[in-house]
Amino acid sequence: MRYSVASLIANAFSGNRNWTPAWREPEPKSRYDVVIVGGGGHGLATAYYLAREHGIRNVAIVEKGWLGSGNIGRNTTLIRSNYLLPGNEPFYEWSLKLWEGLEQEFNFNAMVSQRGVLNLYHSDAQRDAFTRRGNAMRMHGVDAELLDREGVRRMLPFFDYDNARFPIMGALLQRRGGTVRHDAVAWGYGRGADEMGVDIIQHCEVTGIRVENGRATGVETSRGFIGCDRLALAAAGNSSVVAAMAGLRLPIESHVLQAFVSEGLKPFIDTVVTFGAGHFYISQSDKGGLVFGGDLDGYNSYAQRGNLATVEHVFEAGLAMIPGLSRVKALRSWGGVMDMSMDGSPIIDKTPIPNLYLNCGWCYGGFKATPASGWCFAHLIARDEPHPVAREMRLDRFARGYLIDENGRGAQANLH
Ligand SMILES: Cc1cc2nc3c(=O)[nH]c(=O)nc-3n(C[C@H](O)[C@H](O)[C@H](O)COP(=O)(O)OP(=O)(O)OC[C@H]3O[C@@H](n4cnc5c(N)ncnc54)[C@H](O)[C@@H]3O)c2cc1C
Repeated sequence: MRYSVASLIANAFSGNRNWTPAWREPEPKSRYDVVIVGGGGHGLATAYYLAREHGIRNVAIVEKGWLGSGNIGRNTTLIRSNYLLPGNEPFYEWSLKLWEGLEQEFNFNAMVSQRGVLNLYHSDAQRDAFTRRGNAMRMHGVDAELLDREGVRRMLPFFDYDNARFPIMGALLQRRGGTVRHDAVAWGYGRGADEMGVDIIQHCEVTGIRVENGRATGVETSRGFIGCDRLALAAAGNSSVVAAMAGLRLPIESHVLQAFVSEGLKPFIDTVVTFGAGHFYISQSDKGGLVFGGDLDGYNSYAQRGNLATVEHVFEAGLAMIPGLSRVKALRSWGGVMDMSMDGSPIIDKTPIPNLYLNCGWCYGGFKATPASGWCFAHLIARDEPHPVAREMRLDRFARGYLIDENGRGAQANLH
C-alpha cells in the first residue's frame, strides 16, 4: 500500500479500517540466497538495497527482538558527514546524499530534518583542528563553514558565552547535517524490503552458525535451522558474540551508551550542537523534548541500560554549555550496546570464511551511516567486492596497521 495524501483522505473517510500491515510476519523458509543476522538499521537497509539494487530478493532478516529494539531505535538521531579522514569522509557523505532522497524513495516519512550541526570550539588549538577538518570536507566537495563567536551567538542565543573555563569561541557548521526520526528509518526500510519479497523474521534468535567444508551453510535459531548461500552479520553491539559462533574473534568491544529526553519545551535549539570542551550533544525534537547524550558508561557491557555516574557526568557537561538546563526535567533515559572498534571506524568486509560477510564497528556513529552501510554491504554481498566508498573499511587493517583513527586516540575502544 502506497502512502499518499489521497490514501490518507480515503482511509480517514473509511474510519481508518483499511490500512494494511506495514510488513508481513512470515514463517522462516528452510533456505535463502542470503540470510542477514540483525534487523537493525543496517540489516534492514542491506536487505532493501540487495533487493532493489541487485535483484536479490530471496533474503531473510533474522532478528532476535522486534524491529527497532536495538540501537536503531535508541540513538540520538544525529546525521552528518563532517569527517576528516579520506577512509571515512566519502562514505559518510554518500550516506548523507542517500538520506536526502530517502523518504521519497521508500515512501515513508522519516522526518529527515537538515537543521545543521554545530561543533563548538573553545580554544585556538581546537579552532585550528576544526578548520583543518572543515578544509578536508570542502576538498571532498562537502559543505563546511567556520563560525566565529558572534556567528554562533546569532544561532544559539541561550548558550553561556562568558563561561571563564569554557568560553565559546566559534563553531564548525555543517548545514546539511541534522536529525532523522530513528525508528521510522527501521519501519521505512523494513516496509520497503518486505514489499520486494524479503522475509523479516522477528523474535528469532541466532544461536549458532553452521560452517561446513570452510563455508557457512546456515544459522541455528530459536525457530530451527535456516540454510543460506551467503550469510551476512549486522548484529551491531552483539557482533563479537555472533561472530564467535563462526569461530571469529573481532577487534570489537561492547560498551553502553545512554541517551536522554527532557520534558517538552518551546523551541529554543533549532539545530544540533556538540560541546567542544566535553562530550555532550543536544538537539530538540519536534515534540519539544531536548534529546541529548554524552560519553560511554566506560565499562564493557551487553545491558541496554546505563548507570547513574554517567548521568551526572553528561548533565554536568550540558550545564557548562547551557546553564538554563538546570531548571529542565529529564523525562526518559535508556542505553544501547555499542560495537566499539579499536580505531573508532567501522568494518564492512568479507571474513576468512568466503561466504560470510561482516558489518560492524559502528561505535557512536552508525545511525548516520545506515543508508550507505546498507548500500555498500549489499554491494559487497552481491558482487563479492567492496564498494569504492567503503574500500578502506577492511577487517585486516588492524593487522596491517592501516587504522582509520578519526580521533587519533590509538587502540583504546572506549575513547573513540
Ligand atoms: C544512546 C545512543 C545514541 C546514539 N546516537 C547516535 C547518533 O546520534 N548518530 C549516529 O550516527 N549514531 C548514533 N548511535 C549509534 C547507532 O545507533 C548505531 O551505531 C547503529 O544503530 C548500529 O546499527 P544497527 O541500527 O544495525 O544496530 P541495531 O539496531 O542494534 O541492530 C542490531 C540488531 O541485531 C540483533 N541481534 C543481535 N544478536 C542477535 C542474534 N544472536 N540473533 C538475531 N538478532 C540479533 C539485535 O537485536 C539488533 O536488533 C547511538 C547509539 C546509542 C545507543
